[in-house]
Amino acid sequence: MIDIIGGGILGLTLAHELLKWGKSVRVWERASTLGGLMGRTTFDELGGMSCDRYYHAILSSDQTLMSLMNELGLRNRLRMVSTRMGFYHDGRCYPMTTPLEFLRFSPLNMIDRMRLAYTILACRQIKDWRALEQIPVAEWLRGLSGEKTTRHIWEPLLRAKFDGDFSQVPATYIWSRLVRTTDTRTRGGSQELMCYLPNGYQELIDALAAAVRARGGTITTGTAVDQVQVANERVVGLSINGAEQSTDNVIITAQTPIARRLLPPEAAAVSERWSRLEGFLGIVCVLLVLRRSLTPYYTLNITDERIPFTGVIETTNLIDPACVGGYHLVYLPKYVAPGSRFATMADDELRATFLGYLRQMFPDLRDEEIAAVRIGRERYVEPLHPVGMTDLIPPLRSEVSGLYLANTSQIYPQLTNGESVCAFARRTAGEVIADIAGRTTPASPTLVGA
Ligand SMILES: Cc1cc2nc3c(=O)[nH]c(=O)nc-3n(C[C@H](O)[C@H](O)[C@H](O)COP(=O)(O)OP(=O)(O)OC[C@H]3O[C@@H](n4cnc5c(N)ncnc54)[C@H](O)[C@@H]3O)c2cc1C
Repeated sequence: MIDIIGGGILGLTLAHELLKWGKSVRVWERASTLGGLMGRTTFDELGGMSCDRYYHAILSSDQTLMSLMNELGLRNRLRMVSTRMGFYHDGRCYPMTTPLEFLRFSPLNMIDRMRLAYTILACRQIKDWRALEQIPVAEWLRGLSGEKTTRHIWEPLLRAKFDGDFSQVPATYIWSRLVRTTDTRTRGGSQELMCYLPNGYQELIDALAAAVRARGGTITTGTAVDQVQVANERVVGLSINGAEQSTDNVIITAQTPIARRLLPPEAAAVSERWSRLEGFLGIVCVLLVLRRSLTPYYTLNITDERIPFTGVIETTNLIDPACVGGYHLVYLPKYVAPGSRFATMADDELRATFLGYLRQMFPDLRDEEIAAVRIGRERYVEPLHPVGMTDLIPPLRSEVSGLYLANTSQIYPQLTNGESVCAFARRTAGEVIADIAGRTTPASPTLVGA
């Protein structure tokens, strides 16, 4: 038996893959619904309209997701759209989708624009990222893009993404990001292609859950695992609602600080090992349901540091508004480090503050155009990998036989997203199968009668 803790996309993909290897699998999810960060939110006040709690795009280059959707019969549900991107700089919006728009970006002179374009091209040429992880990102960008572009474009974007402190962020971060986003470009770079499922990632989550159940796996929602039980350095069970479920293999997909809380004193050494790299940024995100479109962009990046949120993400410039009751969805995310004043700000104050800044950007937005507002908060979203710390990433296998950790902190140097998470889940399933086989097959078979 293999027990998986967490019914997000990672846990469900892992379950799906392990079942294909013929294993018995149980998935435990503490929330009442599946999907974790990729889940939905419902607006009763808008006739039950539901949409993604957070913005989630699928890129046209996401090969693992495409193959998973093929397998689950979802591929023909996928819609591909050419989307636009902009920059909000010094109180103005600049389109930045096409090479021509890029060349017209007036806050930078022509030489700086060329260096910025060179940075993007240079990134695509780098195949071995190892050297990059020893270099702080701003130092690396300064060498490629120059002082002015780094100060006026890169540093504000990094400050927004890392809640002010990017001093320990390695160059792999921007490398990975630029490679992924430029993969969505058509030849010549004139279009950015993104995809979506009409009912969001929830369609993929539901299809995965159905496939798991069809192969005999069980999924239990609304049930938190309280502790992993360990005896004689091996997993023996799970403690759930005061009862014991016996098992010999547990894969925890929850983020590392949550995973450590599930360990008993007998696994103190494992907890110590996992604690060496367990930093995560959280997020607060104000979702506005509007009666009209606000911008022509899917992403409006913000380099104007007077605005506290990271960007303005209008997902209905990708998703057909008809999929969400004819409304327009605008997400205002702010990544937060522990101790950030935004992390603990009361909902009313957060809403008023973010709306105040949004009105500075778009003075013509009227109250009656806002149909609903929803605030999302998550403590563990973006795993942090400080410069030169790759060796501290917790391993899949632990010192306790049958106890595995498989979470987004181990996805590196790729950024965490549906594509990298599903590819990681597939790899992890293969490694767990090999490890279990290694434990159950004697290393040197005893020869009878020799
Ligand atoms: C604002 C935002 C925007 C994003 N944008 C994109 C995007 O555009 N494209 C993209 O591909 N990705 C995007 N992502 C990233 C994506 O959401 C995550 O990478 C992915 O959802 C991580 O899945 P997971 O299964 O690893 O974690 P989670 O979704 O966090 O799942 C972990 C699950 O474990 C459960 N759990 C925890 N403890 C227990 C316990 N004790 N017992 C039982 N269950 C437990 C939790 O309830 C949770 O459901 C975005 C994320 C955010 C927050």
